[in-house]
Amino acid sequence: MPILQVVLDVPLSKAFDYLSTDPVAIGSRVSVPFGRRAQVGIVVGITNESSVPLAQLRPILAHLEDSPPLPADWLRLTDFASRYYQRALGEVMLGVLPPRLKTGKPMRVRSSRSRTTVAAGASVATDAEGAHGAPVRSWQFVEHHPLTGEQAVAVEAVNGAIDGDPAAFLLQGITGSGKTEVYMQVAAHALRAGCQVLVLVPEIHLTPQLEQQFRQRFPGARIELMHSGRSGVARAQGWLSAQTGTAQIVLGTRLAVFTPFAHLGLIIIDEEHDPSFKQQDAVRYSARDLAVWRARDAGIPIVLGSATPSLESFANAKAGRYQRLTLQQRARPQAQLPLLQLINTDRDEVRDGLSKTLIEALSDTFKAGEQALLFLNRRGYAPVLACNACGWMPGCPRCSTHVAVHLGERRLRCHHCGFEAPIPARCPDCGNVDLQPFGRGTERLEETLGGLFPQIRIARIDSDSMRLKGAWEQMHQRIHAGAIDLLVGTQMLAKGHDFPRLTLVAVVNADAALFAADYRAPERLFAQLQQVSGRAGRDALKGRVLIQTRYPDHPLYRSLLQGDYNRFAQAELAERARAGFPPSVAEAVLRAEGREMPYAIEFLANARAAALALREMDPEDISLYDPVPMSLARFNGWHRAHLLVQSPRRARLQQFLTAWRLAIQSLPARHGTRWHVDVDPIEF
Ligand code: ADP
Ligand code: ZN
Ligand code: ZN
Repeated sequence: MPILQVVLDVPLSKAFDYLSTDPVAIGSRVSVPFGRRAQVGIVVGITNESSVPLAQLRPILAHLEDSPPLPADWLRLTDFASRYYQRALGEVMLGVLPPRLKTGKPMRVRSSRSRTTVAAGASVATDAEGAHGAPVRSWQFVEHHPLTGEQAVAVEAVNGAIDGDPAAFLLQGITGSGKTEVYMQVAAHALRAGCQVLVLVPEIHLTPQLEQQFRQRFPGARIELMHSGRSGVARAQGWLSAQTGTAQIVLGTRLAVFTPFAHLGLIIIDEEHDPSFKQQDAVRYSARDLAVWRARDAGIPIVLGSATPSLESFANAKAGRYQRLTLQQRARPQAQLPLLQLINTDRDEVRDGLSKTLIEALSDTFKAGEQALLFLNRRGYAPVLACNACGWMPGCPRCSTHVAVHLGERRLRCHHCGFEAPIPARCPDCGNVDLQPFGRGTERLEETLGGLFPQIRIARIDSDSMRLKGAWEQMHQRIHAGAIDLLVGTQMLAKGHDFPRLTLVAVVNADAALFAADYRAPERLFAQLQQVSGRAGRDALKGRVLIQTRYPDHPLYRSLLQGDYNRFAQAELAERARAGFPPSVAEAVLRAEGREMPYAIEFLANARAAALALREMDPEDISLYDPVPMSLARFNGWHRAHLLVQSPRRARLQQFLTAWRLAIQSLPARHGTRWHVDVDPIEF
């Protein structure tokens, strides 16, 4: 009887052995007894031997045949992710499987011509549409505009790679240069070649518009959405549709990188610099980096698109690992680049956060019947509440931070953990009733503007106002219908939309990011400002961008003014190399979370000592830093500390981490202290 090696969602574990009377292919899902429960697992090996005595091995409960076995390239991808991100294989495999496929309940297999239910134990599902799911649907690609010269060059390069010579491309194109058009063109080429296409986008709220565009341009093609907002069954069906080759285009957020495909031929990542491609809990993977690995493994091209590429990708292009394609002109012949200006808030008269120059510009815009956008990357009414008499400021009981004032809802809210409380009527320390909000968020800005321009229609867009399902689509329609004069919002506003009558974009206050401790802060600020500026003058109307700052001479603003991302990126890369930050080195952190800070620090100190004893610990290659509290030292009730590890050589860091993780697993974690490794971290 064959012994199956089955991977289960169990931390720190490898595979478990089970017996099966029938042959079961590698990649199959099986239901097995684990402890006293049944669990769904994935078969990763078949063998005749086990370290467990044969008599103690238990048989599987069922072979789940409602879907074909997961393909070999999927098994390789999850295996790589498990090794690279230092997580158990089961955590990766079962963690990325649509939850519905982990229930053991048989899936109804969907197809456009017939509906069949394949129960567990029945024969393997074949799609009704063609042999091995090869798409036989008739679809079309709708051509729009003749391509610009730059677009044509880019499309030709990628098409060539689809036809034969796979490569990774960095598509660096300014906002409005028509990157989306390039994606559509090359996707059409891949579809014509009978391949499937995977398109990754940063955030859910962007998907409806992009989905609409794809559906309009590819009538008849089967397009599947993959993101966490999809219902359990729909997501599992999308997954199976891709795996069987029925889905032609899969559009999704970071988790979609793990979708199995029958014949994937092209991967596209839009806004590749976006931090949301990095998962911040469980398996802390970067969907962008995994996508690059996956493309190389499959021998297919990948396109990374951005106006402001991540420094990692920028360096890869510089080193020749990615082929750079540039779009420097706006695609629409009538659209011009907006005029950027800085407003020195030390010189200008500023009231309630708005300079005189900005108020005049807003006024002119409204008089001309045009739209304006104000960007402030802080939601709520004010970041803190304070007692005028004694200085008391309410903090979050679970995090080391103040709670923000949300005046509309009369609540205090922690922007890290979501803790909420009513706004107190008086100071709990001294009884004073004069409690004042300090600082400014989008809600307060909206109020100020309402007072200044009572006749105009203002809409606020941030994750508070857009919390309800469908809110964004509704707002989008109102903006397009011209029912809004002024948009006030956070970075949620910055992305992906064409607002035809938007001619003025203003950045209220972005200076804080210039001096943040996080070495990635300037890169992010540049990307945000570039993106938000790009909203202005997308159509025939000339756009204008005003940035309020106390530091008009800062090099970041200088580069932004010149529209010179490359210069900025070069300077940042040089600075990172000098300071010993990625991408000039590879890094990881060991994070510990304890009920008290000393427990977390103690755990890390022990882990550090264990590291020094390892054979893989070569001080020439591996730099181990001291344990320190994280910048948000307390989060959700946990005290958090970390220990940074760096190496100039990624492979050496990997070897070290693998050995180190084993050593850490046998360390005592007292008082319920928990830990994890984060490779290529973006949070410190
Ligand atoms: P990006 O994604 O680079 O910001 P988009 O792809 O959204 O830019 O394109 C900006 C606008 O230009 C869109 O309205 C799009 O329809 C239009 N566009 C794209 N390519 C062309 C072209 N070759 N000719 C005319 N208009 C184009
Ligand atoms: Zn007080
Ligand atoms: Zn909190």
